[in-house]
Amino acid sequence: MSLPSSPPSLPSWLQWWQRPFPDANTLLVRGSRPALIDSGFVGHAEETAAWARAQAGTVDLVVNTHWHSDHVGGNALLQATGTVIAAGAPEAEAISRRDAGCCAAEYLDQPVAPYTVGLSLDDKQVLRLGDTDWEVVRTPGHTPGHLALWQPDERLLVVGDALSDYDVGWVNLALDGPDAAATALASVKRMAELDPRVVLPSHGPIPLAPGPALAAALRRAQRLVDDPAGAVWYGARRIFAFALMIRDGIPAEAIEPYLHARAWLTDAARLLDLTPEALADELVTTMLRSGTVVLREGRLHAAADHTLVSAESLRVPYPRAWPAMGPRRAQG
Ligand SMILES: [Zn+2]
Repeated sequence: MSLPSSPPSLPSWLQWWQRPFPDANTLLVRGSRPALIDSGFVGHAEETAAWARAQAGTVDLVVNTHWHSDHVGGNALLQATGTVIAAGAPEAEAISRRDAGCCAAEYLDQPVAPYTVGLSLDDKQVLRLGDTDWEVVRTPGHTPGHLALWQPDERLLVVGDALSDYDVGWVNLALDGPDAAATALASVKRMAELDPRVVLPSHGPIPLAPGPALAAALRRAQRLVDDPAGAVWYGARRIFAFALMIRDGIPAEAIEPYLHARAWLTDAARLLDLTPEALADELVTTMLRSGTVVLREGRLHAAADHTLVSAESLRVPYPRAWPAMGPRRAQG
Protein backbone atom coordinates (compact mmCIF):
# COMPACT_ATOMS: atom_id res chain seq x y z
CA MET A 1 0.00 0.00 0.00
CA SER A 2 1.37 3.43 -0.83
CA LEU A 3 1.05 6.24 1.66
CA PRO A 4 0.92 9.97 0.94
CA SER A 5 4.35 11.58 1.33
CA SER A 6 3.22 14.35 3.67
CA PRO A 7 0.76 14.44 6.55
CA PRO A 8 -2.73 15.83 5.99
CA SER A 9 -3.01 19.60 6.27
CA LEU A 10 -4.06 21.28 9.51
CA PRO A 11 -6.38 24.30 9.71
CA SER A 12 -4.52 27.58 10.26
CA TRP A 13 -6.01 28.00 13.77
CA LEU A 14 -4.48 24.76 15.02
CA GLN A 15 -0.85 24.70 16.14
CA TRP A 16 0.81 21.29 16.54
CA TRP A 17 3.98 20.92 18.63
CA GLN A 18 5.58 17.53 18.29
CA ARG A 19 7.74 16.95 21.36
CA PRO A 20 10.16 14.19 22.35
CA PHE A 21 9.67 12.35 25.65
CA PRO A 22 9.13 13.10 28.48
CA ASP A 23 6.61 15.57 27.05
CA ALA A 24 3.44 14.63 25.26
CA ASN A 25 2.83 16.52 22.01
CA THR A 26 1.06 19.80 22.68
CA LEU A 27 -1.75 21.30 20.60
CA LEU A 28 -2.95 24.86 20.64
CA VAL A 29 -6.35 25.87 19.32
CA ARG A 30 -6.20 29.59 18.51
CA GLY A 31 -9.23 31.89 18.47
CA SER A 32 -11.41 33.85 20.85
CA ARG A 33 -11.05 31.13 23.49
CA PRO A 34 -7.46 29.89 23.17
CA ALA A 35 -7.12 26.34 24.41
CA LEU A 36 -4.21 24.01 24.97
CA ILE A 37 -4.66 20.26 24.65
CA ASP A 38 -2.27 18.61 27.14
CA SER A 39 0.47 20.54 28.89
CA GLY A 40 3.66 18.45 28.82
CA PHE A 41 5.86 17.23 31.68
CA VAL A 42 6.35 19.21 34.90
CA GLY A 43 10.07 19.69 34.20
CA HIS A 44 9.18 21.72 31.09
CA ALA A 45 6.18 23.65 32.43
CA GLU A 46 7.82 27.06 31.88
CA GLU A 47 8.67 26.17 28.30
CA THR A 48 5.13 24.94 27.64
CA ALA A 49 3.50 28.05 29.09
CA ALA A 50 5.89 30.37 27.23
CA TRP A 51 5.17 28.60 23.93
CA ALA A 52 1.42 28.81 24.42
CA ARG A 53 1.56 32.50 25.33
CA ALA A 54 3.77 33.28 22.34
CA GLN A 55 1.21 31.61 20.09
CA ALA A 56 -2.01 32.84 21.64
CA GLY A 57 -1.33 35.56 24.22
CA THR A 58 -3.40 33.92 26.92
CA VAL A 59 -4.65 30.38 27.44
CA ASP A 60 -8.25 30.17 28.62
CA LEU A 61 -8.45 26.42 28.90
CA VAL A 62 -6.23 23.36 29.13
CA VAL A 63 -7.91 20.08 28.17
CA ASN A 64 -6.12 16.95 29.41
CA THR A 65 -6.61 13.78 27.36
CA HIS A 66 -5.71 11.94 30.58
CA TRP A 67 -3.78 12.54 33.76
CA HIS A 68 -0.41 10.92 33.15
CA SER A 69 2.56 13.10 34.09
CA ASP A 70 3.62 13.88 30.51
CA HIS A 71 0.19 15.40 29.76
CA VAL A 72 -0.59 17.45 32.88
CA GLY A 73 2.80 18.84 33.92
CA GLY A 74 2.07 22.44 32.86
CA ASN A 75 -1.38 22.55 34.50
CA ALA A 76 -0.26 24.04 37.82
CA LEU A 77 1.77 26.84 36.28
CA LEU A 78 -0.91 27.80 33.74
CA GLN A 79 -3.62 27.60 36.36
CA ALA A 80 -1.72 30.09 38.53
CA THR A 81 -2.34 32.70 35.82
CA GLY A 82 -6.05 31.99 35.40
CA THR A 83 -6.24 29.08 32.96
CA VAL A 84 -9.05 26.61 33.67
CA ILE A 85 -8.15 22.91 33.58
CA ALA A 86 -10.61 20.46 32.00
CA ALA A 87 -10.41 16.68 32.37
CA GLY A 88 -12.53 13.55 31.95
CA ALA A 89 -15.10 13.12 34.73
CA PRO A 90 -13.53 10.15 36.57
CA GLU A 91 -10.15 11.88 36.73
CA ALA A 92 -11.68 15.28 37.55
CA GLU A 93 -13.53 13.77 40.52
CA ALA A 94 -10.46 11.95 41.82
CA ILE A 95 -8.38 15.13 41.55
CA SER A 96 -11.08 17.05 43.45
CA ARG A 97 -11.07 14.40 46.20
CA ARG A 98 -7.25 14.47 46.29
CA ASP A 99 -7.21 10.67 45.93
CA ALA A 100 -3.77 9.25 46.69
CA GLY A 101 -3.91 7.46 43.31
CA CYS A 102 -4.24 10.68 41.28
CA CYS A 103 -2.31 10.71 38.01
CA ALA A 104 -0.91 7.30 39.02
CA ALA A 105 1.91 9.64 40.04
CA GLU A 106 3.06 7.69 43.08
CA TYR A 107 2.34 4.31 41.50
CA LEU A 108 4.44 5.13 38.43
CA ASP A 109 6.88 7.36 40.35
CA GLN A 110 6.22 10.22 37.92
CA PRO A 111 6.04 13.69 39.49
CA VAL A 112 3.08 15.99 38.86
CA ALA A 113 2.72 19.50 40.35
CA PRO A 114 -0.58 19.89 42.28
CA TYR A 115 -3.48 21.23 40.23
CA THR A 116 -7.25 21.39 40.36
CA VAL A 117 -9.83 20.67 37.68
CA GLY A 118 -12.41 23.37 37.03
CA LEU A 119 -14.33 21.65 34.26
CA SER A 120 -15.31 17.98 34.34
CA LEU A 121 -15.95 16.45 30.91
CA ASP A 122 -18.48 13.76 29.99
CA ASP A 123 -18.87 11.68 26.87
CA LYS A 124 -20.40 13.56 23.89
CA GLN A 125 -20.06 16.91 25.68
CA VAL A 126 -19.44 19.75 23.22
CA LEU A 127 -16.58 22.04 24.10
CA ARG A 128 -15.73 25.38 22.52
CA LEU A 129 -11.97 25.51 21.84
CA GLY A 130 -10.68 28.54 19.98
CA ASP A 131 -13.61 29.33 17.68
CA THR A 132 -14.66 25.75 16.94
CA ASP A 133 -16.81 23.13 18.64
CA TRP A 134 -15.21 19.85 19.67
CA GLU A 135 -16.89 16.74 20.94
CA VAL A 136 -15.57 14.80 23.91
CA VAL A 137 -15.19 11.10 23.07
CA ARG A 138 -14.60 8.92 26.11
CA THR A 139 -11.90 6.43 25.16
CA PRO A 140 -11.00 4.46 28.31
CA GLY A 141 -8.27 1.84 28.21
CA HIS A 142 -4.85 3.43 28.59
CA THR A 143 -6.42 5.09 31.66
CA PRO A 144 -10.07 4.75 32.77
CA GLY A 145 -10.64 8.49 32.29
CA HIS A 146 -8.89 8.82 28.92
CA LEU A 147 -10.68 10.94 26.32
CA ALA A 148 -10.30 11.84 22.67
CA LEU A 149 -11.46 15.11 21.09
CA TRP A 150 -13.35 15.22 17.80
CA GLN A 151 -13.74 18.24 15.56
CA PRO A 152 -16.41 17.18 13.04
CA ASP A 153 -16.08 20.01 10.46
CA GLU A 154 -12.37 19.42 9.88
CA ARG A 155 -12.65 15.74 10.95
CA LEU A 156 -9.73 16.12 13.33
CA LEU A 157 -9.32 13.51 16.04
CA VAL A 158 -7.02 14.12 19.01
CA VAL A 159 -6.33 10.58 20.26
CA GLY A 160 -4.06 11.15 23.28
CA ASP A 161 -2.18 7.98 24.18
CA ALA A 162 -4.85 5.64 22.79
CA LEU A 163 -2.72 5.16 19.70
CA SER A 164 0.23 6.62 17.86
CA ASP A 165 1.68 6.26 14.39
CA TYR A 166 3.55 3.16 15.54
CA ASP A 167 1.66 1.61 18.45
CA VAL A 168 -1.19 1.72 20.96
CA GLY A 169 -0.98 3.00 24.52
CA TRP A 170 0.06 0.51 27.20
CA VAL A 171 -2.67 -0.72 29.52
CA ASN A 172 -2.41 -1.41 33.24
CA LEU A 173 -4.10 -4.75 33.95
CA ALA A 174 -3.14 -4.60 37.65
CA LEU A 175 -4.48 -1.13 38.37
CA ASP A 176 -7.42 -1.06 35.95
CA GLY A 177 -8.43 -4.74 35.90
CA PRO A 178 -8.10 -7.63 33.45
CA ASP A 179 -10.56 -6.04 31.01
CA ALA A 180 -8.45 -2.93 30.43
CA ALA A 181 -7.07 -4.24 27.12
CA ALA A 182 -10.54 -5.12 25.80
CA THR A 183 -11.71 -1.66 26.90
CA ALA A 184 -8.81 -0.08 24.99
CA LEU A 185 -9.66 -2.13 21.90
CA ALA A 186 -13.29 -0.97 22.02
CA SER A 187 -12.08 2.62 22.27
CA VAL A 188 -9.86 2.27 19.18
CA LYS A 189 -12.84 0.78 17.31
CA ARG A 190 -14.98 3.75 18.31
CA MET A 191 -12.32 6.17 17.08
CA ALA A 192 -11.92 4.29 13.78
CA GLU A 193 -15.69 4.56 13.20
CA LEU A 194 -15.41 8.35 13.25
CA ASP A 195 -13.33 8.03 10.05
CA PRO A 196 -11.06 10.99 10.86
CA ARG A 197 -9.21 12.95 8.16
CA VAL A 198 -6.38 13.70 10.62
CA VAL A 199 -5.28 11.68 13.65
CA LEU A 200 -3.34 13.75 16.21
CA PRO A 201 -1.47 11.48 18.66
CA SER A 202 0.29 12.50 21.86
CA HIS A 203 3.57 10.86 20.90
CA GLY A 204 5.36 10.73 17.58
CA PRO A 205 4.35 12.27 14.27
CA ILE A 206 0.93 12.80 12.71
CA PRO A 207 0.21 9.61 10.74
CA LEU A 208 0.45 10.19 6.98
CA ALA A 209 -2.82 8.34 6.51
CA PRO A 210 -5.29 7.82 9.38
CA GLY A 211 -6.88 4.65 7.94
CA PRO A 212 -3.75 2.45 8.02
CA ALA A 213 -2.71 3.93 11.40
CA LEU A 214 -6.07 3.02 12.92
CA ALA A 215 -6.03 -0.43 11.29
CA ALA A 216 -2.57 -1.10 12.76
CA ALA A 217 -3.74 0.13 16.17
CA LEU A 218 -6.73 -2.24 16.04
CA ARG A 219 -4.44 -5.21 15.33
CA ARG A 220 -2.04 -4.19 18.06
CA ALA A 221 -4.85 -3.62 20.60
CA GLN A 222 -6.27 -7.05 19.75
CA ARG A 223 -2.84 -8.56 20.48
CA LEU A 224 -2.86 -6.98 23.94
CA VAL A 225 -6.26 -8.62 24.53
CA ASP A 226 -5.04 -12.01 23.29
CA ASP A 227 -1.74 -11.90 25.19
CA PRO A 228 -2.20 -10.44 28.70
CA ALA A 229 1.37 -11.35 29.71
CA GLY A 230 2.66 -9.47 26.67
CA ALA A 231 0.52 -6.50 27.70
CA VAL A 232 2.06 -6.53 31.19
CA TRP A 233 5.58 -6.67 29.73
CA TYR A 234 4.78 -3.85 27.33
CA GLY A 235 3.61 -1.61 30.17
CA ALA A 236 6.62 -2.45 32.34
CA ARG A 237 9.05 -1.56 29.56
CA ARG A 238 7.34 1.77 28.87
CA ILE A 239 7.15 2.75 32.55
CA PHE A 240 10.79 1.85 33.18
CA ALA A 241 12.04 3.68 30.09
CA PHE A 242 10.15 6.81 31.23
CA ALA A 243 11.71 6.55 34.71
CA LEU A 244 15.17 6.50 33.12
CA MET A 245 14.37 9.48 30.87
CA ILE A 246 13.23 11.85 33.60
CA ARG A 247 16.27 11.04 35.76
CA ASP A 248 18.88 11.29 33.02
CA GLY A 249 19.48 7.61 33.62
CA ILE A 250 19.90 5.72 36.89
CA PRO A 251 23.31 4.54 38.22
CA ALA A 252 23.72 0.82 37.48
CA GLU A 253 24.08 -0.07 41.15
CA ALA A 254 20.86 1.77 42.03
CA ILE A 255 18.70 0.02 39.43
CA GLU A 256 17.78 -3.01 41.53
CA PRO A 257 16.76 -1.09 44.67
CA TYR A 258 14.88 1.41 42.50
CA LEU A 259 12.86 -1.27 40.73
CA HIS A 260 12.24 -3.40 43.82
CA ALA A 261 10.61 -0.41 45.54
CA ARG A 262 8.13 0.26 42.70
CA ALA A 263 4.44 -0.64 43.07
CA TRP A 264 4.06 -1.09 39.30
CA LEU A 265 6.87 -3.65 39.24
CA THR A 266 5.48 -5.63 42.19
CA ASP A 267 2.03 -5.69 40.52
CA ALA A 268 3.47 -6.73 37.16
CA ALA A 269 5.50 -9.51 38.81
CA ARG A 270 2.37 -10.87 40.50
CA LEU A 271 0.47 -10.94 37.19
CA LEU A 272 3.41 -12.67 35.49
CA ASP A 273 3.84 -15.15 38.36
CA LEU A 274 7.43 -13.99 38.90
CA THR A 275 9.19 -12.59 41.94
CA PRO A 276 9.82 -8.82 41.73
CA GLU A 277 13.55 -9.60 41.77
CA ALA A 278 13.24 -11.96 38.79
CA LEU A 279 11.10 -9.50 36.84
CA ALA A 280 13.48 -6.59 37.54
CA ASP A 281 16.41 -8.69 36.37
CA GLU A 282 14.66 -9.91 33.22
CA LEU A 283 13.34 -6.42 32.41
CA VAL A 284 16.84 -4.91 32.42
CA THR A 285 18.40 -7.87 30.59
CA THR A 286 15.83 -7.94 27.78
CA MET A 287 15.79 -4.16 27.35
CA LEU A 288 19.59 -4.07 27.15
CA ARG A 289 19.49 -6.87 24.59
CA SER A 290 16.87 -5.12 22.44
CA GLY A 291 18.74 -1.81 22.68
CA THR A 292 15.85 0.13 24.26
CA VAL A 293 18.13 0.86 27.23
CA VAL A 294 21.89 1.41 27.12
CA LEU A 295 24.63 1.42 29.75
CA ARG A 296 26.79 4.55 29.48
CA GLU A 297 29.43 5.62 32.00
CA GLY A 298 27.91 3.51 34.73
CA ARG A 299 24.33 4.69 34.23
CA LEU A 300 21.45 2.97 32.55
CA HIS A 301 19.74 5.28 30.03
CA ALA A 302 16.68 5.02 27.81
CA ALA A 303 17.76 4.87 24.17
CA ALA A 304 14.74 6.68 22.70
CA ASP A 305 15.05 10.38 21.90
CA HIS A 306 14.22 12.46 24.97
CA THR A 307 14.82 15.91 26.47
CA LEU A 308 16.63 16.40 29.77
CA VAL A 309 14.79 17.69 32.81
CA SER A 310 16.38 19.21 35.89
CA ALA A 311 16.46 17.06 39.03
CA GLU A 312 15.03 20.06 40.90
CA SER A 313 11.84 19.96 38.83
CA LEU A 314 11.11 16.42 40.04
CA ARG A 315 10.80 17.56 43.65
CA VAL A 316 7.04 17.93 43.84
CA PRO A 317 4.82 16.09 46.33
CA TYR A 318 2.88 12.94 45.57
CA PRO A 319 -0.89 13.58 45.40
CA ARG A 320 -1.40 12.22 48.95
CA ALA A 321 0.51 15.33 50.13
CA TRP A 322 -1.17 17.80 47.75
CA PRO A 323 -2.83 20.81 49.40
CA ALA A 324 -6.61 20.59 49.63
CA MET A 325 -8.60 22.08 46.76
CA GLY A 326 -9.17 25.81 46.83
CA PRO A 327 -12.39 27.36 45.54
CA ARG A 328 -13.26 25.99 42.11
CA ARG A 329 -13.19 28.40 39.22
CA ALA A 330 -16.50 28.63 37.44
CA GLN A 331 -16.43 28.08 33.72
CA GLY A 332 -17.57 31.29 32.01
ZN1 LIG B 1 -0.37 8.15 29.15
